[in-house]
Parts: sequence; structure tokens; C-alpha cells
Amino acid sequence: MLIVMDRSATSADVEGVVAAAERLGLKAHPIPGAQRTAVGITGNKGAVGPGAFEALSGVLEVLRVSHPYKLVSREFHPEDTIVSVGGVLVGGTRVVVIAGPCAVESLEQTLTIAKEVKARGADLLRGGAYKPRTSPYAFQGLGEEGLKILAAAREATFLPVVTEVLDTAHVEIVAHYADCLQIGARNMQNFELLKKAGKTGKPVLLKRGMSATLEEFLLAAEYVLAEGNPGVILCERGIRTFTDFTRNTLDLSVVPAVKRLSHLPIVVDPSHGTGRREKVLPMSRASIAAGADGIVVEVHHKPAEALSDGPQALTPDMFGELMAQIRPIVAAVGRTT
Ligand code: PEP
Ligand code: MN
Repeated sequence: MLIVMDRSATSADVEGVVAAAERLGLKAHPIPGAQRTAVGITGNKGAVGPGAFEALSGVLEVLRVSHPYKLVSREFHPEDTIVSVGGVLVGGTRVVVIAGPCAVESLEQTLTIAKEVKARGADLLRGGAYKPRTSPYAFQGLGEEGLKILAAAREATFLPVVTEVLDTAHVEIVAHYADCLQIGARNMQNFELLKKAGKTGKPVLLKRGMSATLEEFLLAAEYVLAEGNPGVILCERGIRTFTDFTRNTLDLSVVPAVKRLSHLPIVVDPSHGTGRREKVLPMSRASIAAGADGIVVEVHHKPAEALSDGPQALTPDMFGELMAQIRPIVAAVGRTT
């Protein structure tokens, strides 16, 4: 439920609404706006009608929010949310580029790639220390050592770090080293992980599950926001379909759909979305044309030797070409790099 306050409502009126919600066992989330304040009410399971709030002082309107998600919805928060990842703003006028290896393999490998992508204009460094691998025999990541390597790469390049947290047991350690916690496609509905990541207060890059509907995707983000953490960046990374020429089908139509329903920023990962390096550049261009707030691309200086996702890794030179090709598209959609 969303309670829209009158323009003339006082802070005491807003407090009155919050107190009324709390008496009913609900959570109230005041959202100050330029013209007026709204108060989002969560925790109600349909039993509370608008009557409980309509008569309170300063209340203009009580709206039932039709979607099962609230905090992530545009009705609740009309302005775009901007998430700061170590000072880099995601969701504003800039289009951000998150680049780096699939996995942290060694200090030398990560430092080399971090410097290459920084030199070509990347905004944030990605790289997994804990890797979700289909096979238990595949490289699983370096764990905490990988996190330390990422921290060293940040120190060398000043690029804030985005890295995946796979397990609730690792949330604290990953949050200690990272600027942004990535929750991978396979964990999009790991609700305990979402809650624990939400509680850290760190920004969360939430990847869409490979068979998740838009509603399920937004409800997963809702778990993080419900912990009082507004810093969620959504990420489209391809969904499972019947195609046999890509690893996944990059669902770019989700970008305008998210923009309509939610205030959260959304970035696109054409690396996992296609699984093939030659498709990463065209789909990066398309992502930005579709209105994405950024892209996530995997880069490796020796793709043939990469311990994971080599076939989709761009070389540093290909990444430079990508940066050159997206610039005019960024400008054409009225944004900046
Ligand atoms: C990744 O970004 O390295 C990754 C494993 O992605 P996803 O969860 O989208 O498969
Ligand atoms: Mn990968």
C-alpha cells in the first residue's frame, strides 16, 4: 500500500502515519519527494484496508499497489535510483562499463586485466573469487585469496570491485573486500543469501535467474530492499531458450520493461548472455541503445588459457574497440560515458 501525503502535510503527519502502521504490525517507509512525501507500507497481507490510513491527518490518498513487489516499484519511488559503487554512480546519466575476467586466477592475471580495462575506460572491475561452476571438477575460484587479489587490483587501478558471493557463509568476508556484491543467476532466488546481502548495506548486483520471469526478478530485488538496502543494480544476463547458436538468449526487452515498472538501474551482461566473444560487441551496442544503465563484459589477456568462460572473453584490444563503438551510441541516447 502506498500512502500519498498532502503537499501541506507536516513531519508530524508523516510520523502519525508511521505510528499507525506500526500499531498494525506493518513497516512504514517514508519517501520524501520534491513536491510531497509518500509512505510505503509493507508487511500487509491484504487484510489491512485503506480505511486505516485515509482519515489520518495530512493523508491525500491511499493507493493499493497491485504488484506483489512494492519497494522496487516505480509507483513507490518514481525517481530513478542511483547506486554508488565505491563512488561510481550507476543509474544516473552515465552508462557504466564493468569489465574484468570471469574468474580471479592469479595476482598477475587480475592486475594485468584490471590495468588493460582501466586504460581503455572501464568504470568498475569485475572478477569472481567464488565461482558457481556446473561441474564440481571445474575451477571453483581462489576464495579469500581471490578477494585479496581484487583488493590489490583496486589499489593499483582505483577501480571499485564487483565480485560474486555464492554462499551465506561468505557474505561478511566478501562484503569486507568488495565494493559491490554480485548475486549470480543461479542464486537469484536464494532468499537467505538475498537477505544477508541486503543486511550488509553494500550495493548488490543481482543477476536475473536463467529462467526467471520479470516478476520473480523484481521480487528477488525486493528481498534486498526489504532489509533497508536500496542499492540494487539489476543485471540481465540471458535466459534459457531453445536456441543453439548462443549460450543463452539475451532478453534485451526486459530493459524497457524494468524501466517502466521499477526505479532500479539495470545493466546488461552480453558475455554470459551470448557466450561467444564475437557476439559481445554487437549486443553491447544493442544493450545501450535499449536503455541499459551499463554493461558487464568479461575480458582476458589470454582467453585461450582462461580457467573459465574463455570462449566469451574479449581480448583487451577487442574491449578497446567495444569502448570506441559504444561511445556514439551512448551519446545518441542522450547519456555520457
Ligand atoms: C559471472 O558473472 O561470472 C557469472 C557466473 O554469471 P551468471 O551468474 O550470470 O552466470
Ligand atoms: Mn563468467
